[in-house]
Amino acid sequence: MLKSRGCLIMLSLFSLLWGCGGGGLNLPNVVNPPNPQPPSPTISVRVTLNMNQVYEGEEVTCTAEVSPSVQQVINWKQEPSSPSGTFSPMSGSVVRWRSPMVERATSFSLIAYIVVQGKTYEGEASIVVLDKSEPPVTPPSISLNYPSSEIIVGSGTLLTIIGSISQGSNALSRLQVIDSNGDLLQEWPAQPGAFRVDLERFGVTGRKTLRLRVIDSAGLYSETSIPVINDDAELEAQARQFLKKYSCAGDGGTIRFGNLQTGPYARPVRVYINTVQQVKDLIEKACAFWSRYTGIQFEITTFTGSAEFSSIVIADYTNVDKPIVAETIRGYITDPHEIDAVIKLYKIWLDYDDEVKACAIAHELGHSLLTMSEITEFGPHMIMWPYGPATLKEEVLPPVVQKSVYLLYSHAPDWIPIP
Ligand SMILES: [Zn+2]
Repeated sequence: MLKSRGCLIMLSLFSLLWGCGGGGLNLPNVVNPPNPQPPSPTISVRVTLNMNQVYEGEEVTCTAEVSPSVQQVINWKQEPSSPSGTFSPMSGSVVRWRSPMVERATSFSLIAYIVVQGKTYEGEASIVVLDKSEPPVTPPSISLNYPSSEIIVGSGTLLTIIGSISQGSNALSRLQVIDSNGDLLQEWPAQPGAFRVDLERFGVTGRKTLRLRVIDSAGLYSETSIPVINDDAELEAQARQFLKKYSCAGDGGTIRFGNLQTGPYARPVRVYINTVQQVKDLIEKACAFWSRYTGIQFEITTFTGSAEFSSIVIADYTNVDKPIVAETIRGYITDPHEIDAVIKLYKIWLDYDDEVKACAIAHELGHSLLTMSEITEFGPHMIMWPYGPATLKEEVLPPVVQKSVYLLYSHAPDWIPIP
């Protein structure tokens, strides 16, 4: 018999951190707490302008900050390239851009870039150039909450992008992601306020900067940058590292439940909700989160008698006042290769709104399906972040973790991700 447990801790009203009690019965020694390693060094270029609109022929000051600082020359370009403005000087961390003559208000992207060891790193900011005969107009604006730093992506994964949009002088039209070569990768209708979208295509391979653009009905836009590495091989290498760190036993083999014939890609995982049927909609939301980002299917149902193997039981423990929101106990008794977990919802789970309640269940499903560890290295948007409150609107499963789940359940139990 083997059991392990993980849980979701919430911040109290007094900002105390409550521990999850740890060390339960038969806690195995197999999943070690993570030791986050610093991410591989990367270079970021951030561009700021001293104004976000100018009249034609006027100048704007453009500043590029490169972090960490490098010796390489900072070059500048504009997009679209025509009509052409003028950078002076042509290169450097601070330059002026004299805007071209335009026929009507027009948006431009001002891009700073450096080349280090054959790789190009760029940052950009957008500006509206006004025709002199026009009244001033305000472009729409956009801010990005996630991702907040360079992120690895690859085929078969989704990159969640979270942020907010404000309308300028004109009605909003579209939200777009534009590749480093100018290709439109994907677009959505734009509404004022918070947005959450999932990018499915990543375009050109390699390290690059995607542009997230909000565009209005007159074609004016604002942009922000999303630095990514689009590399299937690197994504898989990092996913294997993830599994080694979070889902492997001492011998290097994976700890997971569900074999290839009966696992979550072969048939749905049964989720029994006998004592929590009144919150079925929240459980459906939590399951839908994992289905969307990992392809795992669920069958939400009730049972009489004892639960079958390959199942998750969600149980009402809201009469139990523990200093944690919820807890997952998983293990195996006779068959080591089937999903087998009990998720207990405790009293303080009731204190939260529906979004947070569903998020807590989604977090516990992660303990059931992927890892008993709490994971902090991907930041607070990650669904396995141990502290709340959070909501499904803002929670993500990064592409590398999506890839990890696919790898985990498409290999036999005890598979060694890094031999
Ligand atoms: Zn947890």
